[in-house]
Amino acid sequence: MNIDLRSDTVTKPTAGMMTAIMQAETGDDVYKEDPTVNKLEATLADLFGMDEALFFPTGSMANQAAIKLHTQPGEQLICDKWAHVYNYEGGGVSFNSGVSCKLIDGDRGMITAKQVEAAINPPDFYHSPLTSLVCLENTTNKGGGACYDLSEIKKIRAVCDQHGLGLHLDGARLMNAIVANEEDTKAYGQLFDTITICLSKGLGTPMGTVLIGSKDIMHHAMRIRKVLGGGMRQIGFMAAAGLYALEHHVERLAEDHKKASEIAAVLAKQDYVAKVEPTETNIVIFYLSEAIQSQQFMEELSSQEIRISDMGEGKLRMVTHLDYTDVMHTHLLTVLNSIKK
Ligand SMILES: *Cc1c(COP(=O)(O)O)cnc(C)c1O
Repeated sequence: MNIDLRSDTVTKPTAGMMTAIMQAETGDDVYKEDPTVNKLEATLADLFGMDEALFFPTGSMANQAAIKLHTQPGEQLICDKWAHVYNYEGGGVSFNSGVSCKLIDGDRGMITAKQVEAAINPPDFYHSPLTSLVCLENTTNKGGGACYDLSEIKKIRAVCDQHGLGLHLDGARLMNAIVANEEDTKAYGQLFDTITICLSKGLGTPMGTVLIGSKDIMHHAMRIRKVLGGGMRQIGFMAAAGLYALEHHVERLAEDHKKASEIAAVLAKQDYVAKVEPTETNIVIFYLSEAIQSQQFMEELSSQEIRISDMGEGKLRMVTHLDYTDVMHTHLLTVLNSIKK
């Protein structure tokens, strides 16, 4: 039994998804002639009540394209210090768009309207970079799957409107937040200028992220995607996986959340665990006590064929997903209960 909890990206297509992939109608998407891609884009734009959508190979590329669409070189975006766009996209913010990041010391990857307002550079003070964009993440990755309060996002939107800033949502795991909090997709469409939705995380497809946005901002999205090398041809096979996932893999995210909270509860009882972060969705972040080294802990787990992520600074992460079964869950909880410090 190989239990892989390093990320929710490790899933393989289910039999149903494979059938959908094999039966997909395709065409050349660079000519916008792939009917399945067109359908996926229209479906997501419609779901969020936004004008347009565009299919990208990865979440990083879709975020990077969004940042490019919102900014000019030399400008600055505002994000949390743990943001994926800042920490995990290879420095793409400066490489692709020539912008800098003003980092905010938020709470579990989330920032407040007050913090945003305080971080905006005065637009007529030409010594400092011009602030042009705010990037939020929901759920937060490094923040342990934490979910924003929609009321706080509304306040951030108001600050952005007041200062003429764009507002982008890195929604790699937005569906997890929406399922966990029983929210309406269209509420997000109304608040953000652009949103990225990953299909290859909890939704379980082999690849693909969709960038959705308002018409005026999406005008150059095809060009930017081409520049970044993301124009794909008969990619309808992967869009079919995405459509299948939207139909079959959204509501079931609640199962991943339930398992994650059960793992968190078991961890919280162990002597070898110093702290478990609040677990709202499918990510469990915890810290070991000084009695056990993370290397020893990881080795004990791997001797039981269990793999998790070491995020550094004593921080460990487990992510539940589609391929993490009930049998695996029972086994993991038994192992966690049996480890001695
Ligand atoms: C995974 C992830 C992305 C996109 O990553 P890719 O591996 O490039 O698809 C973006 N933002 C967050 C928060 C993520 O967790």
